[in-house]
Amino acid sequence: MTRTTQQREVIAMVIDEAEGPLTVPEILSRAQQTLPRLGIATVYRTLKLLTEQHQIQAVAVDGESHYERTGQGHHHHFACGQCGRVFTLHICPVDLPTGTVFAGGFEVERHEVTLYGTCPDCRVQRN
Ligand SMILES: [Zn+2]
Ligand SMILES: [Zn+2]
Repeated sequence: MTRTTQQREVIAMVIDEAEGPLTVPEILSRAQQTLPRLGIATVYRTLKLLTEQHQIQAVAVDGESHYERTGQGHHHHFACGQCGRVFTLHICPVDLPTGTVFAGGFEVERHEVTLYGTCPDCRVQRN
């Protein structure tokens, strides 16, 4: 396996196994647990490649770019205000069928919801 292939596989695995979408610094520090000499430029280059191959996608959470794997179906994000991590929730808090038309004629096709609060780990520490 070439070094480039290994770097790509480790970065893809980090994103795959994450609790939710990750920022670039989070991806770097988690990938460095396997590849201690990995640099930020390689992470950016690999993220671009994986995005072009539609293996991952960028999502903005709280104004910051995060990366998650594609093909997860309908899901939402939960940002913890204590530890700053973002989690993927396969729970939909919105009862809003496609085709709903609001007053004035606005027809809904899809929705995005980001929830903000305290994650399970931080709730345990707080109590
Ligand atoms: Zn937390
Ligand atoms: Zn939803």
